[in-house]
Amino acid sequence: MALFVHKYGGTSMGSTERIRSVAQRVAKWARAGHRMVVVPSAMSGETNRLLALAKELAPASPTPQSLREQDAIASTGEQVSVGLLALALQAQGVPAVSYAGWQVPIVTDDAFTKARIQRIDDARVRADLDAGKVVIITGFQGIDEAGDLTTLGRGGSDTSAVAVAAALRADECLIFTDVDGVYTTDPRIVPEARRLATVSFEEMLEMASLGSKVLQIRAVEFAGKYKVPLRVLSSFTSWDIDLQEEAQSGTLITFEEDEKMEKAVVSGIAFNRDEAKITVMGVPDRPGIAFQILGPVAEANIDVDVIIQNVSHDGRTDFSFTVNRGDYARTIDLLMNKVIPATGAAQVIGDAKICKVSIVGIGMRSHVGVASKMFRTLSEEGINIQMISTSEIKTSVVIDEKYMELAVRALHKAFDLDAASIAAE
Ligand code: ADP
Ligand code: ASP
Ligand code: MG
Repeated sequence: MALFVHKYGGTSMGSTERIRSVAQRVAKWARAGHRMVVVPSAMSGETNRLLALAKELAPASPTPQSLREQDAIASTGEQVSVGLLALALQAQGVPAVSYAGWQVPIVTDDAFTKARIQRIDDARVRADLDAGKVVIITGFQGIDEAGDLTTLGRGGSDTSAVAVAAALRADECLIFTDVDGVYTTDPRIVPEARRLATVSFEEMLEMASLGSKVLQIRAVEFAGKYKVPLRVLSSFTSWDIDLQEEAQSGTLITFEEDEKMEKAVVSGIAFNRDEAKITVMGVPDRPGIAFQILGPVAEANIDVDVIIQNVSHDGRTDFSFTVNRGDYARTIDLLMNKVIPATGAAQVIGDAKICKVSIVGIGMRSHVGVASKMFRTLSEEGINIQMISTSEIKTSVVIDEKYMELAVRALHKAFDLDAASIAAE
């Protein structure tokens, strides 16, 4: 008898009709003799609605106190979902019990709006599973040591599910969503995108960190750390599809490189519109300056992504980096008020209308000229590259937001990822 964790995203839980279908699917797995834990998200649009309400009344600049309240508000979406799903299962004669994060408990740190899971107590869940119940646990939320509700960041239900699967040593964690797997790029942007039957853990980690929202980055990190078998698949097939067939469908995240994967130089294209670029100009070029600029930013719990320091002219240089767009105004304030006075830099300028486009593939390790092909493709489209960052298995560029779709389509084609070019082989 295997133990499975199913995660259902917002669209999959989008209406009572959809929730009934989720319950039927879960009931099918439970009736096949499996021990089942289900982690649903809030109904689609609900978290946005709750956050918009909070924003109407919250202070202009968030404070630790206001973020605490924001989390208490945002986490209610998942609270409703678990209850509805438990009712739908019970109505089908399947014993089911729902828990909020604090009831399990799923204990996190106290970084409101982006809390990290620290531990999960599995005793209560195991007792219910032993008693033959389906256990339904809220995604997205946890509780800190002080007893306050926390949330794990947007898309955080993926992380809840993988963390629960790790804690319970589940046989597999299945992420049910509104696409039937992980694609070479977002199929909503490039209709020619292809589904990958498998993707390596490392590639998935890069794709998630570079903006492919199909899985939250921390979910992939958890899966890697605890070796949780992870699969992304569709909740939009008919619920009564054959279980064996369903269990093999979608995209499996693999931990071993196989021959097939080594062939693809570029496996996928990721993009992220949620970043903003900030440049501190006229910075004195001396040792320790990067720390003087980025130290206060890190202390304010602001994540920095791509960083560029230009060559100095007249002993002064320009220092650029990107942050999440949501942290843009706060970072500019911080630089103006703390960093400029402390360093004697000339000024701070910013651009929130940028995006980052990345090519990802473990095959890039053993191939030269991949980045230059990317740059050539973009130049042929007349797209100016503002920043570049590379690692062994990815190259990212920061470009004007208005060219994002053009860049993604052109790169998808240039690296032979289009379904048509594969079919033609
Ligand atoms: P859920 O609500 O189920 O968590 P999300 O909207 O968070 O779903 O994630 C699924 C979406 O991710 C898809 O609808 C798709 O538009 C988007 N997406 C982005 N990149 C990819 C990719 N490489 N493969 C598949 N889907 C992707
Ligand atoms: N409901 C949360 C969100 O919209 C978490 C999730 O869906 O994964 O971000
Ligand atoms: Mg999601």
